[in-house]
Amino acid sequence: MTTTIPDLESGSAKDVLAFAVEHHHPSLALACSFQKEEAVMLDLLMAIEPSARVFALDTSVLFPQTYATWELVEKRYGIKVEVFEGPSLAEQATTHGDELWARDPQACCAIRKVEPLGRALSGLDAWITGLRREQSPTRANARKVEWDQAHDLWKFNPLADWTEEQVWEYIAANDLPYNPLHDEGYSSIGCTHCTQPGSGREGRWAGNDKTECGLHIDAPQTQ
Ligand code: SF4
Repeated sequence: MTTTIPDLESGSAKDVLAFAVEHHHPSLALACSFQKEEAVMLDLLMAIEPSARVFALDTSVLFPQTYATWELVEKRYGIKVEVFEGPSLAEQATTHGDELWARDPQACCAIRKVEPLGRALSGLDAWITGLRREQSPTRANARKVEWDQAHDLWKFNPLADWTEEQVWEYIAANDLPYNPLHDEGYSSIGCTHCTQPGSGREGRWAGNDKTECGLHIDAPQTQ
């Protein structure tokens, strides 16, 4: 099911979010991984609609700094982030053996991220991400609004054309809380076992061919 895709490519991030809220709230939610992009997205979104929905995928192996950032933003905006999780680590070990992330990161992401994302998106008309084109070649064609064929709903990427510099300028200008791991050289932050310092997304699954969790790669459908 899809209809004509609205042309929001020349609109600002604020314009894109205002459109998303006007047409889809409350069947709309921001996917938040508590990275610098979500610091910006949360601030812009909450200014437009303070009751906007926000969800996180808690893999149970996020960094302590990520959980601390989570607490900070909930306090700052007076929100409760909706949480979606995979099985407990003990259950996963029983079913799939220990340290699945080291042996088969694709399967681990499928269990701890992709399946919970499916539950988070079920029942929604649209979701919002902090995805930016310059983050990686797999994201270079992201548009500001897409029909997400894989999940059967609209997907808004209001920061698609933002540079990393613009993100940091917005954070500084608005004195926003952000994940302190960014100051330790982590440009992209995921699970503890699969994230190292590095620019762009080079620190994610370093030394492995894997570059994406599987949350975004099948989604874009721009025509
Ligand atoms: S990023 Fe690593 S630990 Fe996290 S779900 Fe994927 S494989 Fe598992």
